Amino acid sequence: MSPTTRPTTWLVTGASRGIGLELVRQLLASFDNLVVAACRNPDKATALKGLKGSSKGTLHIIQLDVSDFDSIRAAPKQLEPILGETGLDYLINNAGIASHDTAFTMDPEEFLQVVRTNAAGPALVSQVCLPFLEKGHRKVILHISSTGGSLQSAVGVVGARYASYAMSKSALNMLTLKQKAERPDLTIITLCPGWVKTDMGGKEAQLEPEESISGILKIVTSVTNADSGKYLRYNGEEIPW
Ligand code: NDP
Repeated sequence: MSPTTRPTTWLVTGASRGIGLELVRQLLASFDNLVVAACRNPDKATALKGLKGSSKGTLHIIQLDVSDFDSIRAAPKQLEPILGETGLDYLINNAGIASHDTAFTMDPEEFLQVVRTNAAGPALVSQVCLPFLEKGHRKVILHISSTGGSLQSAVGVVGARYASYAMSKSALNMLTLKQKAERPDLTIITLCPGWVKTDMGGKEAQLEPEESISGILKIVTSVTNADSGKYLRYNGEEIPW
């Protein structure tokens, strides 16, 4: 990047490990990117902090717990000195938790915590980031969802399991459509990263994080406003709602 060019700006939630960490790692391979990596415990995010020395892009780490609404509402104070001038080009709502319950065994408090983290959190993060997105050049919001949130596919894929998780991702998908309806000037995508080898995906998963994330970044950097409201897989296939 020449000294006069503005960087492309990114905010990734849940950046301490797994898909979020790999997103940040790949983004930082380019001098053009400025990445705000949000995690709930920056002190413990050793792998994330380790990217600082080796990266070409610029890394800023902020504290953000997406299940804590006060923490989200406080985020603009941390973001203003970093993104105040440039705005935000890409918001990636990645942080998420899973549940191993079924419809007839679920604990309603756990269900609410999963929905709080996976759907209400991304909704509020999108709200507080809106002024920064409005200033940005790309105006893209990417929600990391799951095929588990698809009304047509979820039961076929995992049967009765992951009930709270599936419902939370359906809510996230609906958030995508409602955000698009309200703000047609933004480009909002909901995307399944595939079954990825992370703490959540487990060792048996099909994809290495590198492959999933390079697919995700190809998609998110090439989407146009005409793609807003799409439900995609990491390889660009459309997922039935
Ligand atoms: P991991 O469990 O490996 O990592 C989850 C990340 O989310 C961690 O960085 C964790 O932070 C963060 N996180 C969890 N809760 C919060 C919170 N309240 N506030 C801030 N950060 C939080 O999961 P993956 O990387 O695999 O998953 C990332 C996303 O991809 C999720 O939304 C998941 O649903 C989705 N996904 C993953 C699939 C897979 O196969 N792996 C398949 C389909 C979708 P901390 O270190 O602090 O716990």
